[in-house]
Amino acid sequence: MLSYRHSYHAGNHADVIKHLVQICILNYLKRKDKPFCYHDTHAGAGLYSLHSEQAQKTAEYQTGIGKLWNYQGSNADIKAYVDTIRRVNDSDDLAFYPGSPKIADLLCRATDTIQATELHPSDQPILASQFQRRKFCRIEKMDAWAGLRAMLPPLSKRGLVLIDPPYELKTEYQDLVKGLQQAYQRFPQGTYAIWYPVIERQAVESFIDALVDTQIRNQLRIEYSPLPDNEGFGMTGSGMLVINPPFTLKQDMENCLQELAPLLSQSPAAQWQVTQLVDE
Ligand code: SAM
Repeated sequence: MLSYRHSYHAGNHADVIKHLVQICILNYLKRKDKPFCYHDTHAGAGLYSLHSEQAQKTAEYQTGIGKLWNYQGSNADIKAYVDTIRRVNDSDDLAFYPGSPKIADLLCRATDTIQATELHPSDQPILASQFQRRKFCRIEKMDAWAGLRAMLPPLSKRGLVLIDPPYELKTEYQDLVKGLQQAYQRFPQGTYAIWYPVIERQAVESFIDALVDTQIRNQLRIEYSPLPDNEGFGMTGSGMLVINPPFTLKQDMENCLQELAPLLSQSPAAQWQVTQLVDE
């Protein structure tokens, strides 16, 4: 079942949190000259028109990047995020939004490697066509979990793995825990950033417990909900569970969320947290 299309959701509040964390981690990895690998398990189409029928139908980007496009604050990480989105827009009009592999393409150096898997028969060729000029890259029409087994560990032994399933099927939560454990065994030095939606609070907490129960050390939870929990009637927020985060990420995300929370809030009951779940 591949009915999920990210073009309906590109640039929404969940993408803001996901891509902000992604950009913070990539910029941290770039502090060292040594090349690294970026691996994207569920890559999507790479670039989205916000004027498309799909984006206009939901107008979800207005809950996210739309509120930050003219950001005037001084937080360097929020500025880096908005500047990255501005790089795919020629003018001051917000017309395009880059997905996670495109963001990696914009930020990674020529010596870094990009690996991505995407199964959708329409989106995968669109994605692949954007990477033809990158030397160290592998964009495959392959199942996410098979891709992790086939491509990890990277030669460089340093890098970021972004895991961003659509969660269309309940089994995807279990698949993720299993796939993560296998990937971590192959590449324990890697940083892993796992995106999850907040739809039903109890289900979120069970998923987080399952990740903690893997016994994998050094897990940081970053979560932002612009709406209060409503027990299963749509997505009210989202989070990123980061394994082996840069040591700067906790403080950086606390600073970001203090500033972002009121900007993205849709309710007085909006909430956020940055919690070290498992120590190093
Ligand atoms: N990571 C993207 C971003 O931030 O721009 C968005 C990805 S979207 C949430 C999830 C994608 O996973 C969809 O494009 C879907 O086609 C793809 N997908 C679903 N199941 C998959 C699987 N088993 N292996 C690889 N890709 C899959």
